[in-house]
Amino acid sequence: NAFTSLGLSGPLVEALNDQGYQTPTPVQRKAIPPILRGRDLLAAAQTGTGKTAGFALPILQRLAETTPARAGVRALVLAPTRELAAQVAERVAAYGNHLSLRSTVVYGGVDMAPQVAQLQQGVDILVATPGRLLDLLHKGALTLESVETLVLDEADRMLDLGFIDAVQRIIAQLPARRQNLLFSATFAPAVMELANGLLVDPVRVEV
Ligand code: AMP
Repeated sequence: NAFTSLGLSGPLVEALNDQGYQTPTPVQRKAIPPILRGRDLLAAAQTGTGKTAGFALPILQRLAETTPARAGVRALVLAPTRELAAQVAERVAAYGNHLSLRSTVVYGGVDMAPQVAQLQQGVDILVATPGRLLDLLHKGALTLESVETLVLDEADRMLDLGFIDAVQRIIAQLPARRQNLLFSATFAPAVMELANGLLVDPVRVEV
């Protein structure tokens, strides 16, 4: 199996079989091995390239392989819009179908109470839009002190939509030691500035 040779294990390969995926896409071939090794990553990839599986699969595998030192969110994915956040969360759930990790999504424009309740039950992988995540942090609904991996998905759109301050305030609450993954369709100067401040010796992936 081509996914096995990238380093992915049984439960993930099974989930990919369920999805009917037979071969990894280029971004998956290039991103999965370094993410599994714990590297930071800077990836130029548009929607439709399979980038979501490119980060979700290795994150799920790393989380499944280790027991955390403390409870709390272990992987945080920031996405610019509620539609993208919901889509990413749906993919994470599908790829993690044969693992016992818990994932959820939070975004603005809807009642906060069910999201607070969901967070209270415990979440390993949280997909969030920046504004709503900040609101939930201010309410004390969660902390980010257990985050091991941060993903900025569609970072260029996140900046276009004016989320830079929110993103920086979220990053400031993360542990210093963590893995950072940044995906963007374009590398405008503002994206590179964000990347330079965030990523440590990143692997660069272009597709
Ligand atoms: P994304 O670019 O992550 O939004 O993915 C685009 C679409 O491709 C999604 O509908 C995925 O379910 C699908 N997809 C991702 N990886 C593969 C793969 N290796 N083989 C077939 N379809 C895939």
